[in-house]
Amino acid sequence: KLHNTIQELKGNIRVFCRVRPLLTGENSSEEAKTISYPTSLEALGRGIDLMQNGQKHCFTFDKVFVPNASQEDIFVEISQLVQSALDGYKVCIFAYGQTGSGKTYTMMGRPGNPEEKGLIPRCLEQIFQTRQSLRSQGWKYELQVSMLEIYNETIRDLLSTNKEAVRADNGVSPQKYAIKHDASGNTHVVELTVVDVRSSREVSFLLDHAARNRQVSVLKNWKTAMNEQSSRSHFVFTLRITGFNESTEQQVQGVLNLIDLAGSERLSKSGSTGDRLKETQAINKSLSSLGDVIFALAKKEDHVPFRNSKLTYLLQPCLGGDSKTLMFVNITPEPSSTGESLCSLRFAARVN
Ligand code: ADP
Ligand code: MG
Repeated sequence: KLHNTIQELKGNIRVFCRVRPLLTGENSSEEAKTISYPTSLEALGRGIDLMQNGQKHCFTFDKVFVPNASQEDIFVEISQLVQSALDGYKVCIFAYGQTGSGKTYTMMGRPGNPEEKGLIPRCLEQIFQTRQSLRSQGWKYELQVSMLEIYNETIRDLLSTNKEAVRADNGVSPQKYAIKHDASGNTHVVELTVVDVRSSREVSFLLDHAARNRQVSVLKNWKTAMNEQSSRSHFVFTLRITGFNESTEQQVQGVLNLIDLAGSERLSKSGSTGDRLKETQAINKSLSSLGDVIFALAKKEDHVPFRNSKLTYLLQPCLGGDSKTLMFVNITPEPSSTGESLCSLRFAARVN
């Protein structure tokens, strides 16, 4: 009963914390002393404690996933949100954390290993399966995908088939990719590619295409492309779901946004100059704006500062109201990352 009341007060914003395992080569000697969490999945709880300089910092979230939690364990906990999107809700799932903490692993998974598929492919499979099984009840669903990235407060269309256009998007005309919200809460990004999809295979084809567009667009050095650029921009995957029931004439319109955020690490101030400084400022601005927006929504404040960043303005209709938001805060167990982990946990605790 008490738990219900808390959920009602909190509205539709949830925070899950996921601690990734140590990777081979990472130093584990201090691990046990740094972060404590339930040791087995059965004991999966809500608390996480972090030790820094002999001081213990305790946090509580809606759920804490231990390092050996599988991708399937994670998906089980969010599949209800996918159903909500099919039922006509607007849903946002974010991955927040420093570079290397497992955001992309959580969202996309490990390429080539089906067991380690991430949330995006799993969500799509569930949606296509549900679509199939609801056909007998008269439901027809139309699904549309768009993918964009926000880099330095500029939108780039990742599904554009015109490579030159993608490259040139840095100097786009102000009209291109302007964000427009209509009265019924639908978002339109001017000239953004939107693709009708009929199977999860079509979507994986589009995801590959988007990954290639992300690489060619900014980086000169091919090798560091994935890491560098993907950690400096927000990746926004949007699935628009339109359902119509022929026998009952019911109509639903849901949206599922899956967002792999830019790395939350603070670059050393002295090291950042020129382009790098501009990037850092843009990332800091949009991540703190996101925090401010979710905080204001959770506190049911009258003024929600959606307009302070591209990301929050783009997602405005999908945040607040009766929409549903889930934030993953991804944490690395490495002792050398304790400072950053503490920052991430504090950010997440503020919006929780
Ligand atoms: P980010 O996107 O936050 O920069 P990544 O998702 O790329 O971080 O993860 C960094 C590395 O850790 C990758 O090699 C990834 O495969 C690995 N990794 C992350 N989370 C897990 C996990 N839960 N289990 C196994 N490996 C993981
Ligand atoms: Mg990443």
